Amino acid sequence: MSYQHIDQQGNIIDLPLGKVLCIGQNYHDHIAEMNSKTAPEALFFIKPNTAVVDINQPFPIPEQLGAVHNETELAVLIKAPVSKVAPDQVLGAVWGYGLALDLTLRDQQKKLKELGRPWEIAKGFDGACPVSGFIPTEQLGDVQQLQFSLKVNGELRQQGDTCMMIRSVTQIISELSQFFTLLPGDLVLTGTPAGVGPLYSGDQLELTLANKLHIKTSVR
Ligand code: ZN
Repeated sequence: MSYQHIDQQGNIIDLPLGKVLCIGQNYHDHIAEMNSKTAPEALFFIKPNTAVVDINQPFPIPEQLGAVHNETELAVLIKAPVSKVAPDQVLGAVWGYGLALDLTLRDQQKKLKELGRPWEIAKGFDGACPVSGFIPTEQLGDVQQLQFSLKVNGELRQQGDTCMMIRSVTQIISELSQFFTLLPGDLVLTGTPAGVGPLYSGDQLELTLANKLHIKTSVR
């Protein structure tokens, strides 16, 4: 099944699918629930483009590999190259915003952390990044004033507000761009608020972003 970026009405956006750049530990309540050690430096990681699937379609999870956790995150779609820019130069390169699940093999991640090894397997497996349609920037207003949520089987599991981010969207992208060139069609995931937990086959999910996106989907 080939993924293509779409807008919130399902129209195809003429950008290729690129890499997915992610930040970890960007909300205090999630850092607290994980008992994570923090550092002043940002925690960045990458998912390959083979991790991306359409969240609107029922998506599979690799339950045989251990717990698969939801992390609901604001996703940024990049439309122009970005390299070594200041935060105030970032927004012109953004097509728009949507939601993504940074699916995480939590047991695998814990084991890898204990071994001091990288996380690729836990974060970058096939299907590890279900992504919604995108809302153009001009239809959303201030990106640091957006509420988003995830319900699992009718129960509220995650409720985020982008005003609670430790690093703002423009800070994240500026900092990423010191190391990685962002290209048109790349995605940036901006971190999860508290409420991560296991997903199971058959779970019914509802996701919302700022009264602009309302997604109903399920785990296959
Ligand atoms: Zn995450």
